[in-house]
Amino acid sequence: MNAVIPIQAAGRGCADAPVLKERGQREVFCGLTGIIWLHRKIQDAFFLVVGSRTCAHLIQSAAGVMIFAEPRFATAIIDERDLAGLADCNEELDRVVTRLIERRPEIKLLFLVGSCPSEVIKLDLSRAAQRLSGRFNPGVRVLNYSGSGIETTFTQGEDACLASLVPSLPASEASAPPELMVVGTLADVVEDQFARLFKQLGMGPVRFFPPRQAGDLPPVGANTRFLLAQPFLADTAHALQARGAQRLAAPFPLGVEGTTAWLQAAAASFGVDAALFERVTAPARERAAAALARQRTQLAGKSIFFFPDSQLEIPLARFLSRELGMALTEVGTPYLHRSHMAEELALLPEGTFLSEGQDVDKQLDRCRAARPDIVVCGLGLANPLEAEGLTTKWAIELVFTPIQGFEQAADLAELFARPLVRRARLATPPTRTAAVAAGSPQPEAQPCN
Ligand code: SF4
Repeated sequence: MNAVIPIQAAGRGCADAPVLKERGQREVFCGLTGIIWLHRKIQDAFFLVVGSRTCAHLIQSAAGVMIFAEPRFATAIIDERDLAGLADCNEELDRVVTRLIERRPEIKLLFLVGSCPSEVIKLDLSRAAQRLSGRFNPGVRVLNYSGSGIETTFTQGEDACLASLVPSLPASEASAPPELMVVGTLADVVEDQFARLFKQLGMGPVRFFPPRQAGDLPPVGANTRFLLAQPFLADTAHALQARGAQRLAAPFPLGVEGTTAWLQAAAASFGVDAALFERVTAPARERAAAALARQRTQLAGKSIFFFPDSQLEIPLARFLSRELGMALTEVGTPYLHRSHMAEELALLPEGTFLSEGQDVDKQLDRCRAARPDIVVCGLGLANPLEAEGLTTKWAIELVFTPIQGFEQAADLAELFARPLVRRARLATPPTRTAAVAAGSPQPEAQPCN
């Protein structure tokens, strides 16, 4: 008997809802940002950005300086050159890579990451990767992808990186039994929780992509069924499907509902018994629901406005409205992938204002007019909006923090509750009673000088 999805959409939700499409100035980070979480995940990979000093500054300030460990990312700075200088550029790149691989024998996978300066665009990094892979094979595989900020958002760096890895995945046997692949970077703690749940459900083998070690790439073929753990992996999904894998349609594993439906999609596909599914997932679901009930008291009735940034906006909006009672003022997303988002859109409340792309000034005007209780946006917009009295949450924090799964549902809600609590504290001066209760020193009456 197959498990039954217990989650009900009210009508068709936003499945056919109109979407405001905007194409104007955008305020987003570039795809190089993905290196920060990808290099932590694939523990023997190195990311060599081929870029400018700006790229080097971005990576350095976003990732911080590693004091005790040698970093596994760096920037090869390409200065202004004409086309005649490109031969030297390739030689220089080869020299840098050779020195790096000689010095760092633990590196098994090297990504040459392209950027947007015109000097870099002129360089053929895929050729360079092939040439260097041939030279260092089989010890080190060299691949390339673009993290350029032209027409991309910061999470697309991961999509480009994983899509570049798909051709390297080994082919599975034609007669192999079905396997599940979970696609998208998850914090190790979250990955371990999901692996335990799949095991208790009797499902396996289950493989995670990207893997923690470059030598542990999951096989792919017609027997592969994959679940997207992140909503920004359109190219990766396409590349896996081109290799015969089948995507399991599901909402994303955010909150109790999303995680249940996500696990359920895999369980149904692998014929897991409904009673077993209930037995395995009920304890974690109940714990998460109880923890969310506490956060709900802070968040219910509060309004939220999403600027387009991470592509996590629609699943987050679904979670915040359905499980925490928040009101959705506008849900902006940089791109709307209709088929990957179908299950999410069906769960959004009817009438939600959806927008795709950005014309930042117009969107700022809508946000100011709406005066939402909290705004989710990029770093560039957060400070000006805070200065105008709005409460903000940085979108990037939602990618750096483990938020998927039952055990993280309350932590995810808290990420939204915390700025509201902080704002409320700032707005309310402590009363004498509160100060006494907190054991604070009592202000003495001071004579005026
Ligand atoms: S890739 Fe482009 S947008 Fe990103 S840091 Fe480099 S120059 Fe800036």
